[in-house]
Amino acid sequence: MNRTFALSAHLLRRFGEPVRKIPLDAGFSCPNRDGTISRAGCLFCNPDGSGSGLLRRGLSLAEQWAFWRDIHQKKRRARLFTAYLQSFSNTHGPIEKLAGTLDQLAGLPGLAALSIGTRPDCLDEAKLDLLAARRDALGLPELFLELGLQSASDATLARINRGHTVADFAAAARAAADRGLTVVAHVMAGLPAPYGREGGAELLTTVDLLNALPVGGIKFHNTYVCRGAGLARLFERGGYVPLTLDEYLDQLSAALMRLSPRVVVHRLNANPATGELIAPDWAGNMRRLHNRIRDHLDAHDVWQGKENGAEDGPPEWFSAG
Ligand code: SF4
Repeated sequence: MNRTFALSAHLLRRFGEPVRKIPLDAGFSCPNRDGTISRAGCLFCNPDGSGSGLLRRGLSLAEQWAFWRDIHQKKRRARLFTAYLQSFSNTHGPIEKLAGTLDQLAGLPGLAALSIGTRPDCLDEAKLDLLAARRDALGLPELFLELGLQSASDATLARINRGHTVADFAAAARAAADRGLTVVAHVMAGLPAPYGREGGAELLTTVDLLNALPVGGIKFHNTYVCRGAGLARLFERGGYVPLTLDEYLDQLSAALMRLSPRVVVHRLNANPATGELIAPDWAGNMRRLHNRIRDHLDAHDVWQGKENGAEDGPPEWFSAG
């Protein structure tokens, strides 16, 4: 039984075959790193960003695409791909840089969808118009705009030095959805808060906010302590205790049951880069974590929307057919 409306099912229904994700590093920065807002970054953030490292090796976007496409084709005979502009904030800076980056995507073989990671305060009307126009020019049926929210609490956002507010996120989500862009919200469980650490109630509040906004997708992340991050220093002096695996499973289950069954789930957990994880240990073994999540949802008969619009069981669209 498919207990969530997973991205894989959504794409399979749309394209009739699997669509693999290719991470692309276009060399953008982040206003919370380059001094526009601050140089400290979000408390949990790896100062190196979350890129593949291929740009540092001098590979253009087309070369990065060819590198990953070749691997996917050999391993899985994949034909269709989502271009994922992942590192830092990919709409930060002059609009000409964004336009130039999007120009480089034209003609990439097998390009089926586009996913762009950014912050809600790095978007304006002109950039959103550009994204919608380029989606159409590239002939893509969907453009996923991945916006970091993390928490629906302004106090928590201030505690983690996020540099934007909940209202900034809501305004950006509405403006993007007005142009037919699919907003994918990033949220985190177990964030440091002014009173210690966010719990399950705060995660539910965040999900409730997203249910009320024109948000088409969500990425859940368990907060982990990352080498080089401000959170690592807090952790080392005893000021932060990560969630246990059981706590995360309980919080995630409750959040999924509250989440609208129409929202596509892009991720159920964070995926630390090699070598960056300090704590908790359980966050580093993806295969084991995926199995534990699946087993937990099965054991507790949890499905997405169970308490919000899908009370009778997982809807048929959770399955790709
Ligand atoms: S988490 Fe994202 S927004 Fe925050 S500092 Fe890192 S790159 Fe910037």
